Amino acid sequence: MKERDYYPAVQRFTKSKLGCFTTAVDTGTKLGRVDVVGLKDVGGRLDGEGEVVAIEVKRGRSPFLASIGQAAAYSVLADRCYFADIRDSWTDEEFEVAQELRVGLLSLGGASRPRVRIALDAPRSTSVTSLRAELVERLHYSVCTICRAFFRRGEPGRFRQHVATSSPKAAAASNKGFMYWLEEQDSRSSNDSALLYTRRYVCPGCISALWPAASDD
Ligand SMILES: [Zn+2]
Repeated sequence: MKERDYYPAVQRFTKSKLGCFTTAVDTGTKLGRVDVVGLKDVGGRLDGEGEVVAIEVKRGRSPFLASIGQAAAYSVLADRCYFADIRDSWTDEEFEVAQELRVGLLSLGGASRPRVRIALDAPRSTSVTSLRAELVERLHYSVCTICRAFFRRGEPGRFRQHVATSSPKAAAASNKGFMYWLEEQDSRSSNDSALLYTRRYVCPGCISALWPAASDD
């Protein structure tokens, strides 16, 4: 089996055991791609905070240090990083390195429908805010400026599928979120094109709560 053949099992595990509500494979930014990425809500009932989980998958034949180094590098993009490898056990030395690099370990069974289990939980890492946000956008999600939660902004090939751009009221009328651009902040960015790229979002839930649909006023 190729490395990719293990992605679906890891994806299922990322949902069922790591608590992610969406996952993607082989997704990334200009900096590089991540084998399996997931998004999860961690703020409970009273906060919108989410986490990005990134997993490097290997099939048991790669040098440990190089592979876990790849997983550790994901920490610029993600809040929790794991290295998944085909094996039954890990040595004390490997556990020590994983803890030092703040990477979790997942053991993959080698079968065609492999079992995945957590050997070491991933601690939280400090991602680079702008790079993390870029990765989230690649999953067709964005972060709501108001409630701070992830929400589904688009679909493959349809970046703005679930957001309106004309006004919050128009967004409310179409049960969508809202996407808007910030001129002043954009002028301070490195953007030298005529188009504005600095943008923010409001999720459909916040829109419908705060901007009653056009018919209501
Ligand atoms: Zn919101």
